[in-house]
Amino acid sequence: MALVLLVEDDHAVRRAMTDALRDAGHVVQPVGTAVDALGVLTKDKDEVDLVVLDLGLPDFDGTETLRMVRGLSPVPVIIATARTDEATIVRMLHEGADDYITKPFSSQVLTARVTAVLRRSAKEPAHGPLTICDLVVDTDRREATLAGAPLPLTRREFDLLAYLAARCGKVVSKAELAREVWHQPRLNLDQTIDVHVSWLRRKLGESAAEPRYLHTVRGVGIKLIDPCAASFSA
Ligand code: CA
Repeated sequence: MALVLLVEDDHAVRRAMTDALRDAGHVVQPVGTAVDALGVLTKDKDEVDLVVLDLGLPDFDGTETLRMVRGLSPVPVIIATARTDEATIVRMLHEGADDYITKPFSSQVLTARVTAVLRRSAKEPAHGPLTICDLVVDTDRREATLAGAPLPLTRREFDLLAYLAARCGKVVSKAELAREVWHQPRLNLDQTIDVHVSWLRRKLGESAAEPRYLHTVRGVGIKLIDPCAASFSA
């Protein structure tokens, strides 16, 4: 059961879409403005599994709304639009929309697209906690420990650590981190990423000068290594 945030200003359309999604077994939070949608995402950002976003809202332009949603959350977004011109659709997909449906659409098409996007975005099956030397990263519980002590990580720091830990030994580029951890493929986040890496290093009790887990590979990216397995010549 997924929580779908439905953003649609037309009362009758909103009602019909809400009914269709509820009939398909989803929990629906219907709102009529971009401001209300952003409010829900700010308050319950980890609760919302998917956003269905009408482009023609009374308060903000669709592109702006999508950008603001993306700034708040990596949640999947399906654009629902009466605008069928290809340029708009392509722009929305570039701006981070996951799919689109053009109005008028049937409730079957709506629920099928929602189901498909939710399936694609489903979290990878749990493999249990990942242990690397004295670091344990548990993505199910969103907890990490170092030598048995819990690491007080922010959401983004945890995501960054979990992403690198899952690719232990491989260099990950900042572009990949921007895309996969920040969900901002089109922005240059190099400095932001550097700052988060340095915070993460501090929490792991290491530094760029004396790295243990987190190694910067100049001009390429970042690599998390297993310090217990690292050779002394490294
Ligand atoms: Ca509308």
